[in-house]
Order: sequence, then structure tokens, then C-alpha cells
Amino acid sequence: MPTLHLPAPVGEECTVSSFRERGRPLLGHMQQTPLTIDSIFRYVERHHGDKTIATNSPTGVVRTTYSEWALRTRKLGGVLDTLGISADGRVGTFAWNSARHLELYFAAPGTGRVLHTLNIRLFPEQLTYIANHAEDEVIFVDRSVLPLLWPLIDTMTTVRQVVVMEDGGQADIPADDRILDYEELLAAASPVDFHVEDENRAASMCYTSGTTGNPKGVVYTHRSTFLHTMSVVQPNVFGLSERDVAMPVVPMFHANAWGIAHAAPAVGAGLVFPGPVMAPQGIADLIVDEGVTFTAGVPTIWQGVLPLLAGREHTLRDIGCGGSAVPAALSEAYREQVGLPILQAWGMTETHPVASSARLASRYADADDATKAAQRSRAGVPPLGVEIRIVEAGTTDTLAWDDDATGELQVRGPWCAQDYYRPDSGVELSTVDGWMKTGDVAAIDVHGSIRIADRTKDLIKSGGEWISSVELENAIMSHPAVKEAAVIGIPHPRWDERPLACVVVKEGQTVTPAEIIAHLEPLVAKWWLPDAVEFVDEVPKTSVGKFSKKDLRSRFAEYRPGS
Ligand code: ADP
Repeated sequence: MPTLHLPAPVGEECTVSSFRERGRPLLGHMQQTPLTIDSIFRYVERHHGDKTIATNSPTGVVRTTYSEWALRTRKLGGVLDTLGISADGRVGTFAWNSARHLELYFAAPGTGRVLHTLNIRLFPEQLTYIANHAEDEVIFVDRSVLPLLWPLIDTMTTVRQVVVMEDGGQADIPADDRILDYEELLAAASPVDFHVEDENRAASMCYTSGTTGNPKGVVYTHRSTFLHTMSVVQPNVFGLSERDVAMPVVPMFHANAWGIAHAAPAVGAGLVFPGPVMAPQGIADLIVDEGVTFTAGVPTIWQGVLPLLAGREHTLRDIGCGGSAVPAALSEAYREQVGLPILQAWGMTETHPVASSARLASRYADADDATKAAQRSRAGVPPLGVEIRIVEAGTTDTLAWDDDATGELQVRGPWCAQDYYRPDSGVELSTVDGWMKTGDVAAIDVHGSIRIADRTKDLIKSGGEWISSVELENAIMSHPAVKEAAVIGIPHPRWDERPLACVVVKEGQTVTPAEIIAHLEPLVAKWWLPDAVEFVDEVPKTSVGKFSKKDLRSRFAEYRPGS
């Protein structure tokens, strides 16, 4: 008899039910309404038209309502028709977070086109590669970043038009027939109806930098976006409702702004966008002045905002954070100085991106502060819809959920990608048995809560055993004089690799390498202690604000302790 291995806590072997199908099964009698992005659009247009969308700019906050936004979005659909964009043409955006960007978020998929959000911080060669690979037909660009895009335009072989959006930037606009003005196009356009029938139609795409090779394109469907939206508004995840004012600091070009740009309209929450004003002071002031209740961004953003928000009155109820490990010390500092800890989430561009969240479970309500902090520093549990497992590298052998065994984290669910868009040969996202490989190494506890140990490529291999760079960083960052710390492996003749800690000291503070090591001694195993501590001015960041270990590794490629 076939058996199934179920993970802890079930732990028992179950037999497969022996029911037999006789003919056609009884089907349900429910309507088959497609799960589409335009249904989110119609919902907010009809039911929450009076709510506000505020966008910051160098000259102040610009306000609109969902009603005004909806009419403009319908007109933008008309513009895409007038511009002659193909039925499933890729509509590129090169823009900050703004109400206009949100118009594109809905008008492109609403008319069957595919929104392609380009990361404004990528290198020129990567931008050219991505625009050509996706075959963008038009790119909508904020005026302040036009100088980054325009010099590349002749290398982007499929782009016919560039539509400039005024964001308060002063950059010169070259005299060229291919350049059009957003507001002029909109003023001349007629509103259109949105009616996507096939929920499996591509809605948007986003490229992930990945570890090796070329950037890889993830193509989201209307259905995956709708279901991800339904998931992130759940109380266990971001818990958004009509009573919220949401501010995605995470860029709209970074994995759908973690779903917030769809989720806020889907529940009628007000929206606040930072626009090009991304300095920590601007973010802190917006939170206070606009009555923001929910916000989200990568750890480096919250690191910068902390001293500017500490002690001020605010209306925040959640600060979402992910994209890389959230240092426990950062979350605790928020709890003490801002009045609420950070809400950690885990995910990838390939998972839409939210695939788990670490909202404190009620079983820990009476636990001590240290236990609560430890729970919050995990990646947390997946929402309904996402399944997880850890496996022995390169196999489909699942590992126990005992919080000790570590293996590759794999996920499965309706908003997890099956494969990449036209991948390079050899790039396989899925396992033979249909799970998505994440490239993250994790342990899972008995309640199914994920603890990310590291990214596979960042683990440090010492004497055949693995050292988690994330755990070391967390421990170093709990030193009061440390602002940031990144740990990389450096070659070692005997041990293969040994950890090197690159540490940024807080302004006005001092600390020695010996003091850092002494701080680590009670926190980690002896053989994990870094061989060297180097002080750096700042940890290099990737295009989406994460620690760039790749850059650190090349900077310290020749480094030997004591040299
Ligand atoms: P990129 O590969 O360009 O960084 P993504 O933004 O899709 O693209 O990054 C996904 C990766 O970010 C995950 O595979 C994981 O390594 C890391 N990550 C995301 N959230 C967390 C988290 N809460 N803790 C630790 N790592 C995280």
C-alpha cells in the first residue's frame, strides 16, 4: 500500500485514500468569475472612491482620490491603445513609487498588456539586457530619472516610445520624436473599460538579479496577483483593511512593492507614496504627517529612519520588513524607541513575493522579551496557500521540522513561479516533483516557522561544516556600538574558508576587534568566531538596498587576516 510521509508535527505514516473515481465526479455549481487585477480596480473604484492617495515630491505632497485615480487609469488604458501597444505588449516603467505608477499598475494589465517594472538602480548593461529580453515596447519614466534611461534608448531595440512623467525633477528633456508627455497624452485620451477574461493571462513581470548569470524574468498572472493580494491582507500577514493608510517604501519595481500596491486598493486603504523623496528624514516625516498605519521596506531603510522616528507621535501599527534578514537588534530598538517591533516577512521575486510572515503567535503572548525577540527574528510561517519543505541539497529527501536540521527551503503554491521567462539554458527553478527551489538554507520548527540560516551562496564552509553568516551578523549587530555588519567567507589554506566580519561603527562610538569577538563569545560556537574584524565606512548595497556580499567578496578577495 502506498504511504505518504507527512512532516512534523503529524509525523505518522498515512495510507493514501483508496477512493475510486467512477465516471465524471459531481462538479460544484458556482460561478466561474476570473480572478483578475481589473476586478480589484473595479472594486476600489466603486466602493472606496473617496479615499486618498498622497504622493510626496520635492515641492510637497500631491493628493488625489481613488475616484480621480480610477478615471485617469481608464484614460491611460486609452493611451496604451492610441500608442499602438500590442495586445500583450510589455509596458515598461522606470519610476519611483507614486500615484501615476499606480495608474500604470492597473491600466497595463487591465487592457491585457504586461506591466514591466524596471529597477532604476540597475547598471546600464543590465537595464538594456532586461528591456530587450522582455521586449518592452514603451517605457514610462519619471523625469528625475530620465538621464539614467535616455542614454540607453538606442540599445533597447524594441522600445518605440518614452513617456515622461513629471515628478518634480528638473532633468532636461531631449528634443526627440520618441519622447512624449504623460499628462498631454492623458488629456487627449478617452477612458476605456477593462475586461480581462483569462485569469492566467500574464499581468506583470519583474526581473530578479539572482546569483549567477543574467537577470531572470518572473511573469505574474492576474490569478497569482489576485490570490497574493487576498493573502497579504490577512491579519496573519499584513492585516490591511479600509481603516489603514499604507505606505510602501519598498519600491514598486521591487517584487510588486511586496503586494502593497495591489492590496491597499483591494481593501480601500489609503495610500502614501514617498515619490523621489527617499531620504530617511522624508520617510519619517511622511509617516508622522500622513497618519501612516502600515509601512514596509528593507532593513537598511528602517536602520536609517529609526533615530528620526524615535520618540515622535505616530499612528503606525506595523512596520513590515524583509528582503534580507532583519537583525533582532533593529526590531528591538524599534520596540523600545518607536513603540512597536518590526514585522518580518520572507519572500522572493519568484514568490510575488510574500511567502511567510513572523507575526508573533498567541502561544508566545506571555513569553519573556528574549523569546519574543527570537520569534520575531525568524522568517515565520507561510500563509494559507503556500506550502514549505526543507530538503537535503540536490535531492527531494525532506528533512525534519525540529529547528535543527537545515536544508534548502522549497515552496509550492499558486503565487510561486513555475519557471522563468525564456530562461538561459541550465536555469531550473522547479524540482522534478514540482516544488520551487529558493536557494535559501533554512530550518523549520515544530510549528512550521521558518528560520533562514543563509543564502546557499553566502554560507561559509569551514573544515567541511557550515557557518551561517546571517546568524553571525545578527550577533555582531547586537553590540551597542555597531551600526551594520556583514560577514563573508575568505579563503583559508587549512579550513577552506573562514569568516571575516566587516563592521560599520555607529557615529561617535568606538569599539575594537577584540571587543567584538568578546561580545560574540557567549553567543556563538567557538569555531564560528570570525578570524578577523575589519572596520568599513559602509556595507555596499545592492540595487534594492540589501547587503551586497558579492561586492564585499571582491573587495576582500586578496585579504588575509593580519595583512
Ligand atoms: P535578489 O535575489 O535580487 O535579492 P529578491 O529580492 O527576490 O531578489 O530576494 C529574495 C531573497 O531575499 C530570498 O531568497 C532570501 O535570501 C532573501 N530574503 C528575503 N526575505 C528575507 C528574510 N526575512 N530573511 C532572510 N532573507 C530574506
